Amino acid sequence: MAVLEILKYPHPLLKSRSQEIEKIDENIRKLIQDMAETMYDANGVGLAACQVGVCQRAIVLDVSPIDPEKDFMVIINPEIVFEEGEIDHEEGCLSVPDCLEKVKRKEKVRLRGASLEGEKVEFDAEGILALALQHEIDHLNGKLILDRISGLKREIYRNKLKKKKEKEE
Ligand SMILES: [Zn+2]
Repeated sequence: MAVLEILKYPHPLLKSRSQEIEKIDENIRKLIQDMAETMYDANGVGLAACQVGVCQRAIVLDVSPIDPEKDFMVIINPEIVFEEGEIDHEEGCLSVPDCLEKVKRKEKVRLRGASLEGEKVEFDAEGILALALQHEIDHLNGKLILDRISGLKREIYRNKLKKKKEKEE
């Protein structure tokens, strides 16, 4: 197992659409293990494969720090097949450091995908799990929280990033 580097905005891979996984093989299983380790190392509650540079549709989640009834989860080829309600949720992202923004999300979602064993999974989610699922699936579609906020806020963030980089140089 290994802690992988998390790609940061504006890395181009974060903007690309990830591919469906057709076969869950040894490589995918190893990727998932590394993603889990990377997520825990960064104190995140979710991670999409493209955040570690692999553009395949796989996500890992562990929202138990916020909802203790939930556990570690892997979902292969996740898709939302039903959604309901609307909610403003303040989110951060491991790929978008120092950014905490209110994002519009659905309150409840029904998720369909596959387990790491290749079995079909389908379940309803609400609360933090529903929000985290939407955030990670956004990643698989090349979307970041920056794409869900106003152009002005995005510009402010870009400027902040630029200043930070200048300071570091
Ligand atoms: Zn993220």
